[in-house]
Amino acid sequence: MELLDDSIVPEHARDIKAEAREFAQEHIKPNAQEYFQSGDYPEEILEAGREANLVAQDIPEEWGGRGLDLAQLLAMTEEFYRADAGIALTLQLASFGCEITYEHGSEEQCERYVRPVAEGEQRSGLAVSEPETGSDLAGMQTTAERDGDEYVINGEKYWIGNGVEADWITLYARTGDDEDNRYGNHSMFIVPTDTDGYEAEHIPEKMAMRASKQAHIEFDDCRIPAANLIGSEGDGFMLLADFFNHGRVAVAGHGIGIAAAAIEEAWEFTHDREEFGRTISDFQSVQHGLADMLVEFESARTLVWRAREKVANEDNAGYWAAMAKTKATETAVDVAEQGMQFHGGRSVLDERRIARVYRDARIPVIYEGANEIQRNLIYGQAP
Ligand SMILES: Cc1cc2nc3c(=O)[nH]c(=O)nc-3n(C[C@H](O)[C@H](O)[C@H](O)COP(=O)(O)OP(=O)(O)OC[C@H]3O[C@@H](n4cnc5c(N)ncnc54)[C@H](O)[C@@H]3O)c2cc1C
Repeated sequence: MELLDDSIVPEHARDIKAEAREFAQEHIKPNAQEYFQSGDYPEEILEAGREANLVAQDIPEEWGGRGLDLAQLLAMTEEFYRADAGIALTLQLASFGCEITYEHGSEEQCERYVRPVAEGEQRSGLAVSEPETGSDLAGMQTTAERDGDEYVINGEKYWIGNGVEADWITLYARTGDDEDNRYGNHSMFIVPTDTDGYEAEHIPEKMAMRASKQAHIEFDDCRIPAANLIGSEGDGFMLLADFFNHGRVAVAGHGIGIAAAAIEEAWEFTHDREEFGRTISDFQSVQHGLADMLVEFESARTLVWRAREKVANEDNAGYWAAMAKTKATETAVDVAEQGMQFHGGRSVLDERRIARVYRDARIPVIYEGANEIQRNLIYGQAP
C-alpha cells in the first residue's frame, strides 16, 4: 500500500523525498522498536543522518546546509515519521530553532553557531515552554536582564528537546514588563549550554517518542554576551510566531507520517487475521473503517500540502499552518485509534507497531501549540 505517493509533492522536492525514504527504510524503521523500548538517544542514527546530508539541511547553503525549502522539509518529514516518530523527532530537533538565527540573526551569529550545526558538529534546541506556563507564550517568566555588555538569565524551562544534549539553545526570555504590550516583552537569545548557571537534566521518561529526549533547564544568574541577542529587544514573540508558521507545517507532516504508519499497519493486520473462517477484512464494517481512515488521511494530506504553499507564499500563513497542524495531527489520533481496535487484543502488546504509533500520535496534538490554541488562531485569522 503506497500512501505517501509523490504526486502531491512539487517536483523539486521529489528527490529529497526519495532520499529520505531510503534512509528511513534502512536506518529508522528497523531500529524503531529497539529505541522505543530502551528509551536511548539514537546517536548512531543521528550520525548516519548527518552523513546522508538529511539533518539540519534547511540551513542555507551560505552557512553550510543544503537550503531545503518548506516543501522539501515536509516531504522528508512525512517519510521519517512514518518510519518512527521518536527517532524522527531526534533527527529534526538536532537543528531546532536554528531558523530563527539564520532568518533574523547576524552574520557573526550564523557563522559561529549555525554553521557547526549544518556541518554536523553541533546540535541546537529551542527553549520556550516553562514548568508553570506552556500555551501562553506572552506569559513566559524566565528573565534576561541587561547588565553592561551582558544579559543575566534567571528562570526555568521545561520540555526542551536537546536541553541536555545541545551545544547551544535559542532561548525565549522576558526582557520587558509592559502590561499594555504583552507581545513586546520577550526576546530571543543564543545560549551556549556550557555557560555557568545553565543546568539541565532529562525530564521523566515518556510513554511515547521515547527515542527523543527533553529536558528541564534551570538558569541561575547565567550570563551571556549582549551580542547573543537575536534581532532586537522585544522581537521575541513575533520571531516565534513566524517560526511556528513553518514549524506547524512540519508538525502537520508528523501527523501525516504517523497516520500513514497506522493505516499501513491496520491494513496489513486486517488482511491477515482470520476469524469466523475468513479474514477480518472480509467484514464490511472493517472495510468501511479502513475506507474512512483513507478518506481522513487523504483529506488531511491535501490540506497540509495546500497549507505548505500558502505558508511558503506568506499568504495568511498563521491560519493555514494552524489548520494543517490541527487536521493532520487529529487524523493521526483517529486512525491510530481505529487501527488499535482492528488489532483486537494484540493492539496492546508492547512489541506491536500499532501500539507505538498509537502512543506517538498523542504528542503532535500538543506540541508546537496545543490544538485548542490552533483553533484560536484559525478562528482569529479566518479570511
Ligand atoms: C514531547 C514534547 C516535546 C516538546 N518539545 C519542546 C521544545 O523542544 N521546546 C519547547 O519550548 N517546548 C516543547 N514542548 C512543550 C509544548 O510546546 C507544550 O507542552 C505545549 O505548548 C502545551 O503547553 P503545556 O504542556 O504547558 O500545557 P498547558 O498550556 O498547561 O495546557 C494544558 C491544556 O489546557 C488546555 N488549554 C490551554 N490553554 C488553552 C486555551 N487558551 N484555550 C483552550 N484550552 C486551553 C489545552 O487542552 C491544553 O492541552 C514539548 C512538549 C512535548 C510533549
